[in-house]
Amino acid sequence: MARKTLGFIPLIWQCPYCETQNPGPIKSCTSCGAPQPEDVAFKQVDQEEFDFIKDEALIRMAKAGPDIHCPYCGTRNPGTAERCSKCGGELSVGGKLREAGVKVESVSEAQEPPPATTPAPKKKLSRSSMILVMLAVFACIAGFIVLMMLLFKTDEVTATVSDVGWERSIAIEALTTVTRSDWEDEIPFDADIGSCSMRYRYTSNEPVPNATEECSEPYVEDTGTGIGEVVQDCTYRVYDDFCEYTIIDWAIVDTATISGDNLNPYWPTLNVSEDQRLGQRSEEYTIVFSGGGETYTYTTSDSDLFERAEPGSRWILEINQLGGLQSIEPDY
Ligand SMILES: [Zn+2]
Ligand SMILES: [Zn+2]
Repeated sequence: MARKTLGFIPLIWQCPYCETQNPGPIKSCTSCGAPQPEDVAFKQVDQEEFDFIKDEALIRMAKAGPDIHCPYCGTRNPGTAERCSKCGGELSVGGKLREAGVKVESVSEAQEPPPATTPAPKKKLSRSSMILVMLAVFACIAGFIVLMMLLFKTDEVTATVSDVGWERSIAIEALTTVTRSDWEDEIPFDADIGSCSMRYRYTSNEPVPNATEECSEPYVEDTGTGIGEVVQDCTYRVYDDFCEYTIIDWAIVDTATISGDNLNPYWPTLNVSEDQRLGQRSEEYTIVFSGGGETYTYTTSDSDLFERAEPGSRWILEINQLGGLQSIEPDY
């Protein structure tokens, strides 16, 4: 997500000794003179709208980096200072930078007592409803096991072939004008582009052209200088041209199909013209069995298996408990 700065606002800090509320940039209490301790955080004044700072010098100060506390007397000094303004102590060794980048609380948030942590009483299931739930779970598991047994447990049935049939087909393709649609930058060069419309394509974390910005509610981050940075987290919904286009490509224009009720399947013989070609082939074979007073129909694309299904020959069929024919095998 992109972080977007809306502006800078003044923060305050409250003196822990005399409870005076001091402007953020002021480093020692305006009432009692005590320096702001390290652990006293800046707060945001409650207000309807952000009162953005216009003073360029203050904004420069906020951008310069967090203030530093003197290792000897604790006084807050600008991050760029080398020596403490109060005691003259050297800040580069042992000076502590204020924390920057954390979310600033408003004064009212800071005064609210922390939310009660006593957990809501958990609803206990009564004994009888516990038993009902357990029974329901047990019934589900039992039902699943029974279904699996019905599907996988098979019975063997001896049957004879009573009927056979086959069907073979070949698609005929020709170079044809076809209409398709895609993102404009994905369309082949030799296509004719028709009508386009803008459509949502993806969400970017960085600003990009043809995007609508979607941002979080603004919030305030501590810069460590007594000035807050008002920021938003934004993402960008990118829209792009989605177009219809026409292109010359191979397409199925016809399908030649031939079928029979014997064991000698063959492919349709085709003479295709110069602007045509043969496409996908498909084959399906049907064997009908009679056994134990029932009729079973088996379909396959295995021509070798089919060609062994002489009418009257004996086969062993695997039948599942729902009456489905699982597999077949010749009975020698
Ligand atoms: Zn004070
Ligand atoms: Zn000092």
